[in-house]
Amino acid sequence: MSEAVQPIVVVSRCLDLEACRYNGQVIPNAFIRRLAAHVTLIPVCPEVEIGLGVPREPIRLVRQGDDVRAIQAATGRDVTERLVGFAERFVKTLPEVDGFVLKSRSPSCGIRDAKVFSSVESEAACGRQAGLFAEVVGRRFPGLAIEDEGRLNDAAIREHFLTKLFTFARFRQAAKANSVAALVHFHATHKFLLMAQSQRAGRAMGQLVAQAAHRPLSEVIAEYRQHLQWALQRTARRTALVNVFQHGFGYVSKYLTAREKALFQQTLEKYRRAQLPASAVLLLLRAWIVRFDIGYLLAQTLFEPYPDDLREPLDPRMAWELGLPLARNRRRAPA
Ligand code: SF4
Repeated sequence: MSEAVQPIVVVSRCLDLEACRYNGQVIPNAFIRRLAAHVTLIPVCPEVEIGLGVPREPIRLVRQGDDVRAIQAATGRDVTERLVGFAERFVKTLPEVDGFVLKSRSPSCGIRDAKVFSSVESEAACGRQAGLFAEVVGRRFPGLAIEDEGRLNDAAIREHFLTKLFTFARFRQAAKANSVAALVHFHATHKFLLMAQSQRAGRAMGQLVAQAAHRPLSEVIAEYRQHLQWALQRTARRTALVNVFQHGFGYVSKYLTAREKALFQQTLEKYRRAQLPASAVLLLLRAWIVRFDIGYLLAQTLFEPYPDDLREPLDPRMAWELGLPLARNRRRAPA
């Protein structure tokens, strides 16, 4: 299945890593703990970096005319320039990163939901927007995998984030190899994933790969990266995934019994009706791909876009009904 890569992820330091919040606390986060085993984390706390200390009086975003300022309400200090200046300098020091996990609702780190107040004193927010650090990150890296820990509680958002993160890391590795062969290999192993995400982008990327031997490779890689980021901007549509699953099923169906074929169609139908997650169909297909040793599909990253450790285990009853040989699921049906 997919090759081992180590994505590079910038993370808000207060998420499970250090007690650096304004109130001197850390926010426990099981996802960051699991992620840390598979990625290189770059922790950052913008408010500590600009010297606000721990604990500290909280800051808030305050609208002043057309401008939004970061103000420490208790002291009246305006730290807007310091926060933005730090963010601009910080992003320039980063290596080539694959994604960010930032703290939701923070006036510094929130990617879209930091409260904005009409004055330092007002109690009710008059709007929401990105925090000042997150705004610089979003502007500098518009195509990367950027999420906040709140949204990552949603299974579909988390799956898509992880798919992006590990796909970008694999591409970073392929681009670093700086060879036509590495680009061809990347494209070939991501064919099903791209079919599910965007047929149009997949075709355009195929054409780019075909031109790679006749054009400056750095140009081709840069264009390919843009298409890849565009293709992975949104989660794959359900209908597109159903088509790709059917396509994959075509490779294994001749080895299956009538009951197994019926099981696949029932599982696919339940996924189509949103009664099962995509991972149920993926894991079922993957079990057969491994059993029948279908080399072409074994290489397709769609069937294991990121390490299984990061996947939520299927409900044990569901896994049992599908007959999935999953180490992390009990094989016996629960009572
Ligand atoms: S949200 Fe950002 S600025 Fe606030 S404590 Fe966490 S890392 Fe620091």
